[in-house]
Amino acid sequence: MAVLVTGGAGYIGSNMVLALHDRGERVIVLDDLSTGLRDLLLPEVPFVQGDIGDDSLLDQIFTTHAIDTVIHFAARIVVPDSVTDPLGYYLNNTVKAHRLISACVRHGVGHFIFSSTAAVYGESASQAVHEASDLKPISPYGTSKLMVEWMLRDTAAAHGIKALALRYFNVAGADPQGRSGQSGHNATHLIKVAVEAALGLRPHMTLFGADYPTRDGTCIRDYVHVSDLIAAHLCGLDYLKQSPKGFSVYNCAYGRGASVLEVIDSVKRISGVDFSVLQAGRRAGDPASIIADGQALRRDLGWQPCHDSLDEMVRHALMWERKRSNLQPYSHQS
Ligand code: UDP
Repeated sequence: MAVLVTGGAGYIGSNMVLALHDRGERVIVLDDLSTGLRDLLLPEVPFVQGDIGDDSLLDQIFTTHAIDTVIHFAARIVVPDSVTDPLGYYLNNTVKAHRLISACVRHGVGHFIFSSTAAVYGESASQAVHEASDLKPISPYGTSKLMVEWMLRDTAAAHGIKALALRYFNVAGADPQGRSGQSGHNATHLIKVAVEAALGLRPHMTLFGADYPTRDGTCIRDYVHVSDLIAAHLCGLDYLKQSPKGFSVYNCAYGRGASVLEVIDSVKRISGVDFSVLQAGRRAGDPASIIADGQALRRDLGWQPCHDSLDEMVRHALMWERKRSNLQPYSHQS
């Protein structure tokens, strides 16, 4: 049996494909290459370029390959973009997920893992959000993902598919072996932006908001290394095969946060470059702080993260960016 990875040519998806391939699983990738890159994929992995909302393409893929698991990454992921283009986000992230889940039901797919997000919580009152915390997304991005969780919960109850939603916190870093990482232009995520500034790929970076009610006035996020996130999916695959539950949802994060200033400090320290940081006002849709309670994933799925260090995430992100930009190998490695 095979695993279909949607968005498999993207940052997280390509790391997932590598891990599945390493584990000897049969993998098929579906990606429209709107942001993904074909060269992040191993040539031997079957690749279909297309849209996850295309019913006839999905029927063709499910008929051709014996797929028993779908891991669904394909989505638009930029919170401020979702504020200016909510309908685009609801179409891509919610409506098309509906088409994909419908195809899974039609073709009797047994297992489904969904990339959900910490953005489903919004401005949480609690210190560390756990899975039962209030769900009050403050961006269309968060809402677009939460609706998919609900579709999966109800579909699992009605049709017997077993589904797992992993709520990602802020994913960072790159494959420690240097095979894949965050790529592409127009980056908006903090660590990649700061790394690009450190490597001279942009003249400066901008810090959005220094007046939040946090320890240093800048937003706090729970950064998780992409390899640990992928390990959580592998635990999830095993869990779905044994679990009697139809639908489960877990946070995926370490349970501690770093501020924007702390991230910038780490990138400056590890790169050895004091790049320029401009200060601007708050960015639309940004909550002040999101930290996870990540205990349930460890307890129920046996997740054992092994890259729980902001500096390590930054080091791997720097190594990857240097490699992609054809810069000299990074000399501050440890
Ligand atoms: N951020 C920033 N400058 C940037 C990119 C991000 O100050 O160039 C801040 C952003 O406002 C937020 C935090 O870094 O407070 C994390 O943003 P990111 O886009 O990485 O992830 P998000 O939490 O929005 O998914």
